[in-house]
Amino acid sequence: MKLILLGPPGAGKGTQAVRLAEHFGIPQISTGDILRKAVKEGTELGALAKKYMDSGGLVPDEVVVGIIRERMTEPDCGKGYILDGFPRTIAQAEALDEMLEKLGTQMDHVVNISVGDEEVIRRLTGRRTCPNCGAGYHILFDPPKQEGICDKCGGKLIQRDDDKEETIRARLDVYRHQTEPLIAYYEEKHLLRTIPGEGNMEEIFSAILKALDKNPAKATA
Ligand code: AMP
Repeated sequence: MKLILLGPPGAGKGTQAVRLAEHFGIPQISTGDILRKAVKEGTELGALAKKYMDSGGLVPDEVVVGIIRERMTEPDCGKGYILDGFPRTIAQAEALDEMLEKLGTQMDHVVNISVGDEEVIRRLTGRRTCPNCGAGYHILFDPPKQEGICDKCGGKLIQRDDDKEETIRARLDVYRHQTEPLIAYYEEKHLLRTIPGEGNMEEIFSAILKALDKNPAKATA
């Protein structure tokens, strides 16, 4: 099964991608995670990506397309994958279509998780992560036992630079202008399913599985 998760920042794509990857036994490919890892490791790619990420802008198409091209050839992608945060522009979607065509295959589903701007801001400004062990929290919905401290390893929790309100507004603007046109792009290909993203994690997960079932293409890996 080859699946794309679309939606604004903070729609819960990452959380749902992890659940779906487990459910179908296929990898989750997140360009955001790959880029953040490169920044943390101080690689050349990381240095390039950081300046775009910190301002809420998009990393150039050719860079992320290169990352995906390489990642998709790894053996664990044989049964399919879940793309989380890619494609984010029409040019990326076209490059992806070209890659898939060369491999003689195509996407099975595109799930759009729909969430309004104010809800995105509420969710993202409250997000905290542990830089030590990677555990995630939310100051309103999933707070740590002791404020600012990781329950799992005692690390000091941080807020992602791109989760500050000003940057979130910039990311939303980028989303509306550059990524939202993908909804029509995949609608035209009859691959799109839109799910309201404002329920709890379990409800959204069930709604996605139900939507995949309705698509006659393929609902299993
Ligand atoms: P995410 O974790 O998916 O919200 O991504 C965090 C940041 O990484 C974005 O705000 C972009 O700067 C960058 N990024 C992730 N995926 C892409 C992509 N497909 N194209 C361009 N930039 C990306």
